[in-house]
Amino acid sequence: MSQRADRNVKVAFLGLGDIGALMAAHLTRDPFDLVVWNRTASKAAAFAREHKVRVATTPAEAVKNGDVVITCLPSSVEVEAVLHGENGMLDALRMGAVLIDCTSGDPPTSRSIAAELARRGVDFIDAPVSGGTVAAKSGTLTVMWGGEAAVFERVRTVVEAFGKKIVHAGPIGSGDALKAVNNALLAVHILSTAEGLAVLVKAGVDPKVALEVINASSGRSNSSENLIPQRVLTGAFPRTFRLALLEKDIGIAAVLAEDLEARTPLISLAAQRFHEAREKLGEEADHVEAVKMVEEENGVEIRSL
Ligand code: NDP
Repeated sequence: MSQRADRNVKVAFLGLGDIGALMAAHLTRDPFDLVVWNRTASKAAAFAREHKVRVATTPAEAVKNGDVVITCLPSSVEVEAVLHGENGMLDALRMGAVLIDCTSGDPPTSRSIAAELARRGVDFIDAPVSGGTVAAKSGTLTVMWGGEAAVFERVRTVVEAFGKKIVHAGPIGSGDALKAVNNALLAVHILSTAEGLAVLVKAGVDPKVALEVINASSGRSNSSENLIPQRVLTGAFPRTFRLALLEKDIGIAAVLAEDLEARTPLISLAAQRFHEAREKLGEEADHVEAVKMVEEENGVEIRSL
């Protein structure tokens, strides 16, 4: 497969969710020839109307002529389902195609999918992304990928359409592992910053003043610098990344640690707390809404005065 700009690269994109739709939008121009599929067909139809691309009615139809197939689904469980389910991708993938899984997946499942596809002459790369919906929109996501360098070079132009910082994490599954640990840190920062601010509110300190100091000091993080000022102090809590997905990610990190016999009590505790938050707040809540659980437990709200 050549990817010179004078040739169309046939790309199939499966999973037009909060981040997937924004990523796929960067593949709607030359040299890419895009076809999309989404479980809820109305979302794919709306995307196709806006971007003037083709819609497939099944995963098999989407991938049958694809040079490159991208999946961006909640977890590896759904990737398996789209591969093996009714009208799934498995028998339709062309020999020589590459499946780039941008799902924040789990390493063992990615390794097993890669092995199954290799037997059919299809290559696999796990390529989770970070940077959220803002970076997805501007095409500046960070992409951490696992797999063979020679395979990646065949699809680099596709990944560069939505990624800016593109990093080889190691063999297949390494991208998933790195993503899970990054998100475990995000989960820890959200909870620990919320706990600290809840204490300060109880102590009579304005949370805006508290963050002014923390963000000029060593306690700062993306949560204290961006997420909490923009979403909690304002009370806006926009939905950009579902809490259920962050709970899934920190769970992957906790299992990875267990499998490797690493001692990670903080990650385990944060995983347990995000599990509680998911039960309390439901499947559609945004990840930053975990702060609401901390607020409720402490009888305070962390808002601008
Ligand atoms: P969403 O929950 O918004 O979307 C999930 C997508 O998967 C939808 O297209 C949904 O289809 C589809 N889907 C769900 N279940 C199935 C199934 N059983 N079979 C087929 N399709 C299914 O997720 P995001 O777009 O936010 O996230 C996608 C991946 O990217 C996740 O792994 C997430 O962790 C990761 N990620 C997300 C970020 C974000 O900021 N949102 C940031 C970085 C990574 P339908 O429309 O029918 O529901």
